Amino acid sequence: MNTVQLKRGNERAYAHGQLNIERDDLSDDTFLKDGEIVKVTDPFGKLIGIAMISFEQKTIGWILSGDENTVIDREFVSGKIAAAIENRTPLFNEAETNAFRLFNEIGDGLGGLTVDYYDNHLLITFYSRGIYKIRDLIIKELMAQLKPDSVTEQTRFSVDGRMKIENRRVSGNVEFPITVLESGQRFSVHLDDGPMTRLFLDQRETRKALMKNKKDAHTFLNLFAYSGTFSISAAIGGMATTSVDLANRTKELVADNFNNNNLSAEAHKIYIMETFEFLKYAERNNHRYDTILIDPPTFSRYKKKVFKVDRDYPKLILEAVKVLNRGGTLILSQNLETATLNQFKKQIDNTLDRAGIPYTLEDIKGLPKDFPTAKGYKKGKYLKVATVTVD
Ligand code: SAH
Repeated sequence: MNTVQLKRGNERAYAHGQLNIERDDLSDDTFLKDGEIVKVTDPFGKLIGIAMISFEQKTIGWILSGDENTVIDREFVSGKIAAAIENRTPLFNEAETNAFRLFNEIGDGLGGLTVDYYDNHLLITFYSRGIYKIRDLIIKELMAQLKPDSVTEQTRFSVDGRMKIENRRVSGNVEFPITVLESGQRFSVHLDDGPMTRLFLDQRETRKALMKNKKDAHTFLNLFAYSGTFSISAAIGGMATTSVDLANRTKELVADNFNNNNLSAEAHKIYIMETFEFLKYAERNNHRYDTILIDPPTFSRYKKKVFKVDRDYPKLILEAVKVLNRGGTLILSQNLETATLNQFKKQIDNTLDRAGIPYTLEDIKGLPKDFPTAKGYKKGKYLKVATVTVD
């Protein structure tokens, strides 16, 4: 087993429990191989832990145990999976929900791996070739412990510096889409149709709050709507919804979800348009909304223009405010590993403050309990959802 040493001064966070290994913290990483198990020590040779090297976008490895004698074998994997299942007992027992994250990388003790549970159909995602080396073992254990109806795997490997995402059916004879339940809502899910499944499990709490519609809002605008799950929740909460997305498939996906919930799609609007173009159009035509939800991707392209969430969020907020009714609510969601909650709050504050727009921060949400993360692992807390009312 190879030993890697942390640079002098960089060992402190690890001694205090940091589990993600950053390339710059190591004194020498040239010999490391993806998937290799190594011993990590401080600059003086004192053991920090046993780690698996995992070349991911976010990190290059994970400390999996502080005990030198730990072996990453079937028993180790089996124990982590059993504990993850045990921790989801409340979700397994919830009659109105059968879709959630079953295993969340290092938060459940094994980095580079997530497992999503969709009514006993599993989507297993491997974030490096390294963790994929124990794929058979992981799948065998999941099969043994859960007896899933189907298993689909997704690999996210870097090929020539670019992320390549592929899905493959591993077992089961199922025809997607299937319908799953979340807080009583029915959503279509497809596990073998590109990187996205039509349902982002990490937004469960946002949808729940929309269903309750405590503000008694009447009109709802869903920007970057995709399959329209937020529109469904808002419609259940009694709002007339408008969903906007530039992808044509949105029409069909949103209509499908309205049908799933016995809601008439005709009463709800869908615009296949670029967001900023839609906001201009809405402003000109005097369309106004009580609640506007903004949940953009990190990055996208439209014609020759590039959308980047960190750079473009202020403009999104300001353009959205122009079509927000007085006293209206903005639900601002940001999905970005490199920004902390405080940075996001500051960005919102700077944007509204500079524009002289008085507002009240009503609520902040992060990830739900089925997305646990390790102590000090900031990138693990990628999701932030801020609700503000504009006076
Ligand atoms: N909010 C959605 C997830 C959004 S996924 C949900 O929770 O289900 C990102 C979506 O944004 C994709 O459907 C993509 O087509 C759309 N999109 C990306 N750039 C866009 C732009 N500039 N204008 C409108 N839609 C865009």
